[in-house]
Amino acid sequence: MINQFTALARDPRVTFFGNVRVGSPGPVSLSELRSYYNAVVLAYGAESDRRLGLAGESRLESGLYSAREFVWWYNGHPSASTLPIDLKSAKSVAVCGLGNVALDCARILLRPWEELSTTDAASHAINALRESNVKQVHLIGRRGPAQAAFTPKELRELLNLPGINVRILPDGCLNLSPACQEEVRTNRVKRRIVEVMQKLLARPNQGDESTNRSLYIHFYRSPHDLVCDSTGKLSGLRLERTMLAGNRAVGTGEFETLPIQMLLTSIGYKSLPMEGAPFDEKRGIIPNVHGQVVTETDTVDPGLFVCGWIKRGPTGIIGTNLTDAEDTVEMMVKQKATFPSIHAVKPGGEGLASLLQARGCSPISFADWEKIDAAEKERGTLVGKPREKFTSILDMVGVARGSHQLRQ
Ligand code: NAP
Repeated sequence: MINQFTALARDPRVTFFGNVRVGSPGPVSLSELRSYYNAVVLAYGAESDRRLGLAGESRLESGLYSAREFVWWYNGHPSASTLPIDLKSAKSVAVCGLGNVALDCARILLRPWEELSTTDAASHAINALRESNVKQVHLIGRRGPAQAAFTPKELRELLNLPGINVRILPDGCLNLSPACQEEVRTNRVKRRIVEVMQKLLARPNQGDESTNRSLYIHFYRSPHDLVCDSTGKLSGLRLERTMLAGNRAVGTGEFETLPIQMLLTSIGYKSLPMEGAPFDEKRGIIPNVHGQVVTETDTVDPGLFVCGWIKRGPTGIIGTNLTDAEDTVEMMVKQKATFPSIHAVKPGGEGLASLLQARGCSPISFADWEKIDAAEKERGTLVGKPREKFTSILDMVGVARGSHQLRQ
């Protein structure tokens, strides 16, 4: 990805403006940006997450994070680098949701930390994982094996981690109902997922349950409320047993409590609105037709486009976003004649640069980014990693401006 972006950014027709927030409290609004260009494409993804809103959350002092926060934390995202994630006091962690992000979180928690120490994962996360006492990770799904949202390759990677024991619960859940059998029969991905789990049942335990790490995949369980101790620390997750009614999970009124010290909610990302663009609150996207933004009354907003998760919601892998971008570009070509002042020369990047300068904002250019990139790689060589990321924006800007002393 870095190579692709670098090639693109070096094209003389491209100007990169980094560290510039569009919309309040940033230095430029979307409508101003639109006045500088004939067309604008919004590709800002999904920066927030769907919340479970469990009873007990307000009493909790620590131990509850969204999977997005956790992923940002181990990737060194500046907004999450100081999260007080405590893996030393946690023995049991639950991850709610059965998508690929939930698998990613479980894999980070269960994988030997040494393997991460030679990747570009953030050092604060590697240090926390080195000291981790997490022995059990519970993945919680409100529906059954035929409805799991993860994909077979990612599941296999998790199940094949060295030395972990895996249990799929409740016992017998892989004996699918006739309706689920039909669902699996007609969907190759789902069939592979169930096959991978069925194969696993025949596998002997990888080691002693009391010393080895264990992964529990719970189906037909819905998070209900949180249990916390007198100091406000998370001590358990109360789950309601569920059953399928058609394709929906419905509660059975039976409950059980899972003792845990940390909970990651992984039930999907959520995009945020941008001032000056319409937003469909229910679907969490900017309404559009093949990337062309349309208003609530389905009227085309000429010259405004979207692509990626802000266009279609938080689904799909990198490859999905490639074809999605092609779809938007095709639409832009079709709609070109409708762009506002298409025959006028717009101020473009030069105009934007002057506006930002007048407002006291000094953007990070691509050459600046290359300095940050080089510094991160240099820091990485000192510790045997491909790069040691800066986790503070101030540090990054300092390196770009040449006013930062390289430090570990
Ligand atoms: P996701 O695939 O949409 O999975 C969300 C999970 O949360 C589902 O299991 C869903 O269950 C569950 N859920 C939703 N609301 C719930 C609730 N109220 N209570 C309990 N469970 C609830 O989302 P994701 O894992 O965030 O992934 C986002 C996208 O990124 C996906 O397309 C994923 O494949 C992709 N991704 C790919 C990779 C990779 O390829 N390696 C890595 C990361 C992410 P229901 O089905 O019952 O609603």
